[in-house]
Amino acid sequence: MMWTTRQEERIVYGTTISSGLAMGRAVIYTDILLRDHELYTITQKALKEELKRIEMALREVSDDLHCSAQRIEKELNSHMAGIFRAQLAILHDKLLVEEIKAELETELINAEQIIKRVFRKWELRFRQLNDEQMASKADDIVDLSRKILGALIGIHAHTLEHLPAGSIIVARRLLPSDTVFLSRKSTRGIVTEFGGPASHAALLTKEIGVPALSKIADVLNIVKNRDFLLLDCVTGNLVINPQEKTRRCFEKRIAERKVYLLNSRRCCSEISVRKNGQSVAVLANVSCRDDVEVALKNGAEGIGLFRIENIYLSRKLPPSTQELIDEIQNTIEPAQGKPTTIRLLDVGGDKKLTYLNYSSGEDSFLGRRGVRFLLEFPELLYTQLNALIRLSENFDIRILVPMVTFHQEMGLVREIFDDLTGSGGSKEIMLGAMIETPAAALCVEQFLPYVDFISIGTNDLTQYTMAVGRENSSVTQYFVENHPAIIKMIDHVVKYSGGIPVSVCGELAARFDTISTLAECGIGTLSVAPSLIPQVKNVIRES
Ligand code: PEP
Ligand code: MG
Repeated sequence: MMWTTRQEERIVYGTTISSGLAMGRAVIYTDILLRDHELYTITQKALKEELKRIEMALREVSDDLHCSAQRIEKELNSHMAGIFRAQLAILHDKLLVEEIKAELETELINAEQIIKRVFRKWELRFRQLNDEQMASKADDIVDLSRKILGALIGIHAHTLEHLPAGSIIVARRLLPSDTVFLSRKSTRGIVTEFGGPASHAALLTKEIGVPALSKIADVLNIVKNRDFLLLDCVTGNLVINPQEKTRRCFEKRIAERKVYLLNSRRCCSEISVRKNGQSVAVLANVSCRDDVEVALKNGAEGIGLFRIENIYLSRKLPPSTQELIDEIQNTIEPAQGKPTTIRLLDVGGDKKLTYLNYSSGEDSFLGRRGVRFLLEFPELLYTQLNALIRLSENFDIRILVPMVTFHQEMGLVREIFDDLTGSGGSKEIMLGAMIETPAAALCVEQFLPYVDFISIGTNDLTQYTMAVGRENSSVTQYFVENHPAIIKMIDHVVKYSGGIPVSVCGELAARFDTISTLAECGIGTLSVAPSLIPQVKNVIRES
């Protein structure tokens, strides 16, 4: 990354993770714990008042945790409720409360700073023990400090939920737990310091069809809140506070691009057939109702991947079966009558459920993720399968199991699924495996007794094959999703899949330069971000 100055206008260069052009005002986003909270000294006289503020915040968080524990015990099980009780126990630990008081009395500074300091010390104490259980306790402490700070400051809604229209979000990193609250209607673009092309920030921006630029070092010191920005994710740069002339040129380019996109949408509702007569269906990757609506407008032949993680990440507790049915139904309603593939919860990696006290281990992407996690928390699996079975009465539901490594994992899910449907092996609702690990790709034939279809998740398959973290922007040059090794694996999966449908739902499915290769491997279905459907269909027709 480098930057140059032209009078007051500044240009910084980064890496495009979602293409497009956007113009708007910067909204700086930082984690509540990383914000510069005001630091001020207090007098002995004000001590009592400050202590009262802290006590009230602790009580509010404690009441919240208490309600969560009670509800979860009623609706799920006591094991999970215990997780909230563990957080409550930390909160009520006499030593912690005494340390907060002592720190306040000796330092005589405001409550926010005291909470940050004391909780950071406690976090480090547990973290230094280098033990998985203690690390998860340290995570709990961080989570608690976020909640208490929120209560102190009076933030109960997420900052990204209410953005001014036309905002360009500028952040060091965006995690799924941040973006779940993102106001999609107000977001024009995203600029980050970290996050590779397959990071979840990248997927989200492609999904909502806004440009995103990453790998801008020290971005929070370069861009200020409300700066005017031109985000050029065609050439990969960001102009901060542009001159009038630059701005006018940019507006012209935006208008030209609009015309181009409109043209490509003209025949988007027709199927896409290659010159050799092979037809390739184009479906959509979605995670909310807006996505489904855009996808259908853009000619999606169905939903190829519904990522349901947002439903879980946006809550304080896992949804009940009925809540899950309601949320999913509301999202997929516009696609009724079309094939709709719903992926079971894929948490772990960078998506962490704060209400479940588990640790993915040190390498979160190589730890408890996807089906590994579901088999450890079978209550979550039952809730999802029951909800999807009920939804299948009105929708053409297909169920996709994420991150399988061993065929035995798929065998277990199949067994539970058949027990729930009472069909003893009926294949009315299609159950599929998401092939994202090289082990599953190379041994795909072992999965065949348990699956009705296969979907290849090339984002993770690339991460695990190329040994490159998908969130790690320092090694993006290794994230080559169309590397011959990946193509060979896709070819292998199709060859040994015994003729069941095989689709590709990772970002590779929308790479214009690789679509014909995928079709030649025998891939008959691509599932891509809603905004890209018209262009992907055109590329298929021209191949
Ligand atoms: C993938 O890994 O390719 C995929 C589609 O799943 P996700 O990006 O949600 O991990
Ligand atoms: Mg994946």
